[in-house]
Amino acid sequence: MIGERIRLVREYLALTQQQLADVAGVSQGAISKAERGGPVADKTVHAIAVATDYNVSFFKRGPLPDVPEVSLRFRKHATSLRRDDKRFRAHFRQGVELVSDLERQAELPPVRLTPLFRDATNENIEDLAVTVRQQLGVGRLDPIPNLTRAVERCGVVVCGTSVSLATHDAASAWPNFPAGRPVISYTRGRSGDRQRLSISHEIGHLLLHQIGGVEPEYAETQAFRFGTALLIPQEATIEELQPPVLLHRLAWVKSRWGISIAALIRRGYDLGVFGRHRYGSLMKQLSARGWRREEPVTVPIEHPVLLPKTLRLVHGTDRPTAIASRTGFAPIVIRDLIGPTSASAERGRDRVVVEMHSSREPDRMGGRTRKADPLGRTS
Ligand SMILES: [Zn+2]
Repeated sequence: MIGERIRLVREYLALTQQQLADVAGVSQGAISKAERGGPVADKTVHAIAVATDYNVSFFKRGPLPDVPEVSLRFRKHATSLRRDDKRFRAHFRQGVELVSDLERQAELPPVRLTPLFRDATNENIEDLAVTVRQQLGVGRLDPIPNLTRAVERCGVVVCGTSVSLATHDAASAWPNFPAGRPVISYTRGRSGDRQRLSISHEIGHLLLHQIGGVEPEYAETQAFRFGTALLIPQEATIEELQPPVLLHRLAWVKSRWGISIAALIRRGYDLGVFGRHRYGSLMKQLSARGWRREEPVTVPIEHPVLLPKTLRLVHGTDRPTAIASRTGFAPIVIRDLIGPTSASAERGRDRVVVEMHSSREPDRMGGRTRKADPLGRTS
């Protein structure tokens, strides 16, 4: 168990066994043996903890949360470095562990998104997206002003990371499905429209693909289709993309719905608003203007608040070093999960309610005796 945590930390920090051995001043053999499940001397754990900025307690916490590799649905791709995948997965597992710690200490919003057990097809996926839009509390023909906030209100934890994957901007998992809490992590530094599409795409995976059997390539197509339908439903797309469909019109639609021009072109084609010829010509125009690399119209970046807010509630601070010393994670992990600053995201009318558990004693199953601390509502 200690060994799997040593491996996790090493993979998260993108170190080889030899590099970790060098910074910790232990032998590579000791690390290799530990990772293979062998006994680990206390002084080795201590040296690794000091070298990596984790607390020794982190390595002694017991089994890591089970996040099967398949449930992190980033595309496997020849150019995607295996090392980056491992790094992302290590980041993600720590996020899930931190969230499950917080669940014991605070009352997070209940999960209010219903998994879609029906087989999604091109025919019904539009209706499924409409149903989920209702669960998110969005009007039938309204844009989603802040997708991150909407999914957080439905109990999904969204976090960011600086770890980037060559082929995917985000990943998601639903640990202990369907009882647990879904978590989405996205790579920071992308445009707001890309971030929104990534998050809606992951909602697609979370709701459509938790019980297996869907071929990965097809799952990607479905998640993309679902994600775009979540951002702009069929009825609105047809209304907004009245012919003639011109680029400046698409730019306007982008500003209103927070979805990229490229995704809108694809959407128009998927819904039969225009045919293959018009699709090809619009994509060509997009390339000619250099808009495939960088589109006009800035969609604001969304900042998650549920995780930072819960951390602040539970630990009384949002300083990563302070939270790290209370939780055993390295400060870099906390910083990575909550981002450089959440202060700006705190302003405005966010209404993600987190309540403190008044006591740890009553268990969560029979936890009717537990009381919420009104402090949790002061946001
Ligand atoms: Zn995907």
